[in-house]
Amino acid sequence: MHNNQQKTDSDGAVEIAGAGIAGLTAAIVLARAGRQVVVHEAQKEVGARFGGDFQGLENWTTREDALQSLEALGFTTDFTALPCYNGTAFDPAGNRYEIDTREPLFYLVERGPGPGTLDDALLRQAQSLGVEVRFNSRLRQMSGDGILAAGPKAADAIAVGYHFETDMENGYWVICNDELAPKGYAYLLVMNGRGTVKSCMFSGFKREQHYVQRTVEAFQHLAGLEMRNPRKHGGCGNFRIPRSAYAGRHPMVGEQAGFQDTLWGFGMRLAVSSGVLAARSLLHGENYDRLWQRELKPQIETSVVNRVLYTLSGSLGYGWFLKHFISRSDIRETLRRQYQPSWSKRLLYPWAKRRYRSQRNDVSCNHVDCNCIWCRGDCCIPD
Ligand SMILES: Cc1cc2nc3c(=O)[nH]c(=O)nc-3n(C[C@H](O)[C@H](O)[C@H](O)COP(=O)(O)OP(=O)(O)OC[C@H]3O[C@@H](n4cnc5c(N)ncnc54)[C@H](O)[C@@H]3O)c2cc1C
Repeated sequence: MHNNQQKTDSDGAVEIAGAGIAGLTAAIVLARAGRQVVVHEAQKEVGARFGGDFQGLENWTTREDALQSLEALGFTTDFTALPCYNGTAFDPAGNRYEIDTREPLFYLVERGPGPGTLDDALLRQAQSLGVEVRFNSRLRQMSGDGILAAGPKAADAIAVGYHFETDMENGYWVICNDELAPKGYAYLLVMNGRGTVKSCMFSGFKREQHYVQRTVEAFQHLAGLEMRNPRKHGGCGNFRIPRSAYAGRHPMVGEQAGFQDTLWGFGMRLAVSSGVLAARSLLHGENYDRLWQRELKPQIETSVVNRVLYTLSGSLGYGWFLKHFISRSDIRETLRRQYQPSWSKRLLYPWAKRRYRSQRNDVSCNHVDCNCIWCRGDCCIPD
């Protein structure tokens, strides 16, 4: 066969598997540097696994504002983003703590296809720079330059609940209680007449519906949750620190690499950062492992320590944390410090690493005769 006949129509282009945040941000950086880019997306649209979900773009890991950081990196902020200054947290006993920050603690953004979503804004920016996005295109092999951005490959945590319409005011509410969300937290987010209520659990997947039911009841009682037209929604997160974030010679970004906030699952900014680093590694011939290990690994290791401390603290610890930190300090600054690598966290990391176990081994889910979100396949599109 002649060489030309073996070539595909994306020859010469950088191929990216996955039009999530990580894949699209990588595509944008590459396209702006003049590279031809083809993004393959297995689904028929962007953000298919989120479909109208609300998520928090955290604003505490950097002093610089999260939206300004995006702009400084050259990404659009042309999506609906609700700055969240005030919210309410509850401890397991139902005690209420008002959260009040000088800067937004996070920005509430919508995920999925459609106007105003983060995914749609990144898609439009990528396309305007000449990136070709092929939908219903599941990439199975790459021959030339490429980036793997195909999302989570395991369920270390799941967030399950409902999307709904409501007359409630905009806002956010959180409950730290293992009876509602084992080793995690329950949350309620409302933006512009729509909302999501979820149990984000790090264990107990098998009893997912039980925890969702309790979460809904708790928010009805504590926050006056009102849902119209509730639709079930859930997804999973994959948290790990890989030895190498190369698959063969291709960089992996976002959750495909396991890059996540191991404490609470705020993975969007890590998806952006890793997308940028992978693109730079291709553009400048730099070693991607060296880049992410320098820029991202210390923060992710710190989050592993935070996760282990959070898990061990249990119900008593959640109450103590809320009482001492939320009500008495600027929680944004407190969280920023807790997420920063420090000598004490570095010292604790080897201990935390031994204690942190992927919840894939969660004894409550043996993946046999199980209808949890992971086993249903709602979170990852099976190959
Ligand atoms: C319910 C839920 C709530 C969350 N809340 C928050 C939050 O509040 N704040 C926060 O920061 N983070 C949150 N996260 C985490 C955050 O959504 C993720 O960390 C982030 O979206 C990961 O982006 P990604 O690009 O790595 O992967 P994804 O967004 O999963 O994108 C991967 C894409 O690749 C496609 N794909 C898969 N295989 C292939 C293939 N072979 N070929 C082509 N395409 C393929 C998929 O269809 C998908 O579109 C939440 C996650 C869930 C599930």
